[in-house]
Amino acid sequence: MRGFSTNAIHAGQEPDPSTGDVITPIHVSSTFAQDGVGGLRSGYEYSRSANPTRTALQECLAALEGGRHAVAFGSGMGASDVLMRVLLKPGDHVVIPHDAYGGTFRLVDKVLALWGVEYTPVDLADIGALRAALRPTTRVVWCETPTNPLLGIADIAAVADVSRTAGARLVVDNTFASPYLQQPLALGADVVLHSTTKYVGGHSDVVGGALVTGDDELADAIRFTQNSVGSVPGPFDAWLTLRGVKTLAVRMERHSDNAERIAELLAAHPAVTRVYYPGLAEHPGHEIAAKQMRRFGGMVSFTVAGGRDAALRVCAATEIFTLAESLGGVESLIEHPGAMTHASVAGSALEVPDDLVRLSVGIEDVEDLAEDLRQALSAADR
Ligand SMILES: *Cc1c(COP(=O)(O)O)cnc(C)c1O
Repeated sequence: MRGFSTNAIHAGQEPDPSTGDVITPIHVSSTFAQDGVGGLRSGYEYSRSANPTRTALQECLAALEGGRHAVAFGSGMGASDVLMRVLLKPGDHVVIPHDAYGGTFRLVDKVLALWGVEYTPVDLADIGALRAALRPTTRVVWCETPTNPLLGIADIAAVADVSRTAGARLVVDNTFASPYLQQPLALGADVVLHSTTKYVGGHSDVVGGALVTGDDELADAIRFTQNSVGSVPGPFDAWLTLRGVKTLAVRMERHSDNAERIAELLAAHPAVTRVYYPGLAEHPGHEIAAKQMRRFGGMVSFTVAGGRDAALRVCAATEIFTLAESLGGVESLIEHPGAMTHASVAGSALEVPDDLVRLSVGIEDVEDLAEDLRQALSAADR
C-alpha cells in the first residue's frame, strides 16, 4: 500500500493517456460524444452525473481516507444535505454534537425538522450521554472530532461501537482533522464527511465537500441522490481542490507545529483564561486524541479575561491573523464564534461562550504569529 503523500499526489491522477498531461486536465465539457445511441466512450455522459476532473478528485479522496468510494460535492453542506436525505426519513432521529458546526445544526434544526426528522444535541465525549440519547428511531450518529469551536474530542471507536449496537450509522465530519491526521473509517465510522473548503483544499480559494465510505450500497444511494438534486462541484472547483490536496501532509505538519507553539503561548498568557487545544496535556480529550490522531491540527480556541468586549478587541487588533470566517487555509485567521460562525446557534443548546476566540493557525513563520497575538492581547487589555 502506498503512503499518504504518494496517494495525495498520484491517486486518480495518472498522466492523461491521450496527451500525456502530468496534471489532470480541467474537463469543462458538460456533455460527452457517444458512439451510437448509448455507446459511451469512457463512461461519461453528462457532467452532473459524472465528470473526469471530479472523478480524479474522488479517487484521490477515497485513497486518502481509506474508503472504496468518494463523492465530491459543491460544498460541505451540499454533502451533508445529501447524506442526511439518504440516511433519514420522516420520524427518524439523529444525534448531533452539542457544539456541532453551525451550518449542520441549522440544516437539522431549520430544514430537516420541517420534514419530521428529530434530533438531540449530545456531548459525544461522554459515551454515557450518547447511550442515554439513543432512541429506537435513531438512524444516525453525527460526530465531529475535534469539534468546532470548542475542540472537544470524541472517541471514534467507542462511538462507533455504541452506534452499531443501536443500529445507527456513524458519520464523522473529519473537516478539522483532515485525512492526514485522522482516518475515521478505520476506526469504525460508516461515512466520512469533509468540507474540502478547509484543510483539504487548503488555500481558501474554493468551496467544496466530499463523502467517503467503504459501503457499496450506501455509495450508490449517495450518487443517486446527488444526481437527483444536483449538488455537484464544477470542474475548476474539483481541479483546485485536487491541486490543494497534493500538499496536505506537509501543510498539516506545519499547521500542527505552529498551533502547538501558539497554544503553549496562550496557555501561559495572563490575559487568557482558558485554552482549548487537544495537544495540551490538560485537555480532557488529550489521550484519546493522541490515540486516534497523528497530530493535533491547526485549530486553537481560547477565552479572554474581560469577557465579550475583550474578545472582540483581540479579534480587531491582530495584523497577520485576518478577521474572517472559515479555516484550514495556509493563512492564519481569527474570529469570534459567538458573533460570527456560531451566531445561528445563539440562544440554543449549542450556544458558545461569548468570551471565546477561535484561531485557524496558518503556516506562516510561527514567531510572527506569536508576536501578533502578544500585541493583540496587550492591545485588548488596555
Ligand atoms: C465549513 C464546515 C462545514 C460546511 O462546509 P461548507 O464547505 O462551508 O459548506 C461542515 N463542517 C465543518 C466542521 C466545517 O468547518
